[in-house]
Amino acid sequence: MLIICQETLDKIIQDAVSHYPDESCGMLIGEKGQDSVVEFRPCRNVYDEMHARHPETYPRTARTAYLIDAQEQQGIFAEVERNHQEVKAIYHSHTDHDAYFSEEDKLVAAPWGEPSYPGMSYLVVSVWNRQLKEINEFYWDQGQQDFVKRSIQM
Ligand SMILES: [Zn+2]
Repeated sequence: MLIICQETLDKIIQDAVSHYPDESCGMLIGEKGQDSVVEFRPCRNVYDEMHARHPETYPRTARTAYLIDAQEQQGIFAEVERNHQEVKAIYHSHTDHDAYFSEEDKLVAAPWGEPSYPGMSYLVVSVWNRQLKEINEFYWDQGQQDFVKRSIQM
């Protein structure tokens, strides 16, 4: 489970509010084997670009979906590995929706029913009308074979 300091939470919230009404996204990085997040790394939401190029595959827009550029994501994972760190969580915002883990979010995190990154969790930030409502963490529970919610206390 993640330990996130107020300063990092503020950055995540700021990022989400500044991208409203589009969804924001990014990564939270920490030392291997530790729960604390030490770095916040915003990423570009490329969903609209992909939607313009392949509307059948990407039928929604950045208002209701996020997509981190595959190359950017690979680059961050490689850099983190070199620094003996790891990506603790991927975060994204929901605009004018609550901080639930949608079917689409599950599909991205566990496309074949198993999580692509078992130790990694997902943070969902709910922003209504440019105001933060709540932040929830979703982590994979091996026993339940599903993502389980934990609310982040601020
Ligand atoms: Zn979502």
